[in-house]
Amino acid sequence: MGDTIFGKIIRREIPADIVYEDDDVLAFRDLNPQAPVHVLFVPRKAIATLDAASAEDAELLGKLLLAAASYARQEGLAEKGYRTVVNCNEHGGQTVFHLHVHLLGGRPMHWPPG
Ligand code: ADP
Repeated sequence: MGDTIFGKIIRREIPADIVYEDDDVLAFRDLNPQAPVHVLFVPRKAIATLDAASAEDAELLGKLLLAAASYARQEGLAEKGYRTVVNCNEHGGQTVFHLHVHLLGGRPMHWPPG
């Protein structure tokens, strides 16, 4: 397990507001929310970036997105819509190097992003 802040959350070494978990995926509220709902979906497996994912991670990547979609539906976000984001490396704006899917909802999103 990589030693990132998200690794510490997965190992329960630091607290987080966990909203969903299964054998492969953990989801918790973002500490600095950018929307009324802002949840991060992370694989328990420590994959640093989307660029570091490989074909063997295909099912896991699918599970991350489906977990986000399921949570969004459960929270009543699906009809109006929501956004999922994966930031990769410097130009993507990634700051925590444990792959994660942002789920943002509860307000209209804008495009293009900054
Ligand atoms: P950015 O920081 O630019 O959003 P990332 O895509 O790497 O880049 O996202 C990391 C996210 O992790 C940020 O939204 C940040 O608020 C969140 N975060 C950092 N530390 C924690 C923590 N301990 N608990 C919950 N969320 C955290």
